[in-house]
Amino acid sequence: MADRQNDRDHGSSPPHSPVLPSAATTTDPSPLRFLFLAVGPLLLVAAVGLLLRRRSRLRDFVQPLAIPRAVFAAARRADEAGLRERAAEEVVRLAGHAQNARAAPTAAERARVACATAEAVLQRACGVPDLAGVFALLHEGRTALDRSKAPLPLCFFHPLHGPAVRHIPWRRSEDGERFQISACATCIRALRAHREPDTLTDQQDGHPVPYFDVPPEHSVWSATGYGSLLTDTSLAAHVQRELDHSR
Ligand SMILES: [Zn+2]
Repeated sequence: MADRQNDRDHGSSPPHSPVLPSAATTTDPSPLRFLFLAVGPLLLVAAVGLLLRRRSRLRDFVQPLAIPRAVFAAARRADEAGLRERAAEEVVRLAGHAQNARAAPTAAERARVACATAEAVLQRACGVPDLAGVFALLHEGRTALDRSKAPLPLCFFHPLHGPAVRHIPWRRSEDGERFQISACATCIRALRAHREPDTLTDQQDGHPVPYFDVPPEHSVWSATGYGSLLTDTSLAAHVQRELDHSR
């Protein structure tokens, strides 16, 4: 931009113009203005960069116990046995955090309840949807320890995508009921592009269907959206009630 501005300057005032020397060196403020125009955007970009880095560091500080993205990536690649193994590792990890964290007693208790519920689900898990539920419960326990003020659950469409980034309205069909769900950035982009998000499937009548198409009375995950569809209770409390009823 500076070059273009300087070119324009030279173009409008030829070097041999008798007016140029006094105007350029004494009274014309345009060089300063051009310098500001050239440097201003660079300073703005640098300031925005610093702000984003600071926000990123702040997010890391606020949620140091979040399940690492690499864990979700590995879980998505794993087969059912591998997923079960990773879920068991994460249960042990959260149990350690809940014991050692300097969290408020209520937060530590919520984390312990989430961890115990995750362990109970893991013991009964009979498929990927249940194992994904273990991760959803562990995520809830970790956000309790992190003292997140308004924690979002894992991605509604596929919990193994990792934590959701925002609430969005969603309908199962064109004329269906409208829900408020939480989704990851990839799924939100897919929806905005009118594409189907990558969705976790469950078995119904021997066929794979989106897990949320299973009647809610047959699936606690369909009923809760792995936490997205709950407004007045925690996922751990809801799942624990279901476990108590099934005993
Ligand atoms: Zn997603």
